[in-house]
Amino acid sequence: MPHVITQSCCSDGSCVYSCPVNCIHPSPDEPGFAAAEMLYIDPYACVDCGACVSACPVGAIRADTRLTDDQLPFIAVNADHYPAPRAGAKLPPTSKLAPVLPAPRLHKDGLVVAIVGSGPAGMYAADELLTQNGVRVSVFDKLPTPYGLIRAGVAPDHQSTKSITRLFDRISAARGFTYYLNVEVGKHISHQELLEHHHAVIYAVGAPGDRRLEIAGGDLPGTGSATELVAWINGHPDFAERQSGLDHERVVVIGNGNVALDVARILTADPQSLARTDISDAALQALRASSIREVVVAARRDPVDSAFTLPELIGLTGTAEVVLDAHDHALVRRDLEHARDAATRAKLEILSRLPDAAIPSTRPRIRLAYRLTPQRILGGERARAVEFTRTATQDTVTLDAGLVLTSIGYRAAPIPGLPFDDESAVVPNREGRVVDADGAPVRGAYVAGWIKRGPTGFIGTNKSCAMQTVAAIADDFNAGLLGDPPQRTGSMAKLVRARQPDLVDSQGWAAIDAAEIARGQAAARPRVKFTAVPDMVAAARSPRASRRKRPRHAVV
Ligand code: NAP
Repeated sequence: MPHVITQSCCSDGSCVYSCPVNCIHPSPDEPGFAAAEMLYIDPYACVDCGACVSACPVGAIRADTRLTDDQLPFIAVNADHYPAPRAGAKLPPTSKLAPVLPAPRLHKDGLVVAIVGSGPAGMYAADELLTQNGVRVSVFDKLPTPYGLIRAGVAPDHQSTKSITRLFDRISAARGFTYYLNVEVGKHISHQELLEHHHAVIYAVGAPGDRRLEIAGGDLPGTGSATELVAWINGHPDFAERQSGLDHERVVVIGNGNVALDVARILTADPQSLARTDISDAALQALRASSIREVVVAARRDPVDSAFTLPELIGLTGTAEVVLDAHDHALVRRDLEHARDAATRAKLEILSRLPDAAIPSTRPRIRLAYRLTPQRILGGERARAVEFTRTATQDTVTLDAGLVLTSIGYRAAPIPGLPFDDESAVVPNREGRVVDADGAPVRGAYVAGWIKRGPTGFIGTNKSCAMQTVAAIADDFNAGLLGDPPQRTGSMAKLVRARQPDLVDSQGWAAIDAAEIARGQAAARPRVKFTAVPDMVAAARSPRASRRKRPRHAVV
């Protein structure tokens, strides 16, 4: 009964560290780790101890006898990553793994670090720092609620992925951890002021913007980006006033990464199933009234180049009606003849079995479409169609659509006072140390997550990324390169509160959290989120709410 990793794999590698027989790969120190779509359990080496099940922060690992029907394809997905053992061959000797990436060791006490951003990269950095004696971290976020894209970017029907917040709750409850929520670095407090109270500042601010598609009509009403739509669906206060635009039969999404699949799946889902999640009330209402019959996910390249990952494709085809037209079926057949690696072949095989788009659908569906290069968005007062050329030809294809969403990747924004590489949209760094135009380290400044390496990878990819940054800080601290801050950390709270009276601390967040969970209880939902900052601040101040008990399985 080997164990199997399924769709919600977060790739943080916790399972790798827990496995006594080294049967989960790629591990964070192996070359394939950064590019892997998920981690895989070797069914021939698994000793079935279940240690990985307890270690996994998102509940992605199950014994193969306990898989749901939708999860059964993951038996082959895991096994295909490994060559089958030769008959009679011995399994590799069990080897208790030393920590795969060695933890840094501080030689002296008292390191204090500010972390800007409370998404996965910031939380994993805090976790790693707090494994050392005498370290304190101050975590800043401009929203009154923590956890970044886990709260605002993970689709609401992926509640299991959101359960990573239970790990983050444990990290933020650790001794030495202080929250400064609803505080914007650069507005309420400067980088220099942070350095006056801390040895180092880690920016883990992610990539809050979108890559822009510069085509005519790109700013017509009825156009937008998939990430904005996901933020609105998730109740992010900056997007609460967004017009839904779901009053047309077809949506076209440009780009076919995992974000495109997320929006296509939500826009075609049965609203009743979403009503059991933490989706925003406004989005749920709009989806109930939606006229959408088809979402076309349009890629400029071939099926073999699909940017979505195999686990997400398996998840999509298990829950939604997904079709291909005859032209694209022919492309899939052609690509299947040449595809080499197992994951790509598996994706193409799934695509090849999809129903033909000519067969009428009984419910809203998703059409995956290929070789469509966007040229312009047509319309007068609002978008009414997208004009593409067939990639590498002059042939034109026009798709009517009332909503056109670009989903061509996130883009980070410059951080005032730090260098920025405009081309790759990251802060230039060496292993997390920010470097200036001459390649010299900028004292005290570090980065982790998407602002460090660009918008790629999964939630858990940020763990090894943050560990590398923390190792750099530890080395610099040990080498005496980080001068002691002139101000005591204790004066920090006073300074911040003077600048931002609506500061939300750990207790305030606990009160918001409890109030949201309480709002969801009547409707058997994990929570009903506040979508306006003043409502969050009011909840943070409510002493009654903070005393409410938090149910065990509440995620953000
Ligand atoms: P992505 O995976 O980088 O996909 C971007 C898509 O946009 C690709 O299809 C790309 O096509 C296309 N594109 C780029 N420029 C274009 C242009 N000028 N015209 C037309 N198409 C263009 O980005 P993403 O979907 O935003 O995802 C970002 C990261 O978050 C990824 O690592 C993703 O796996 C991760 N994520 C994971 C999950 C999950 O695991 N559930 C969910 C959401 C996001 P080309 O390939 O031709 O460049």
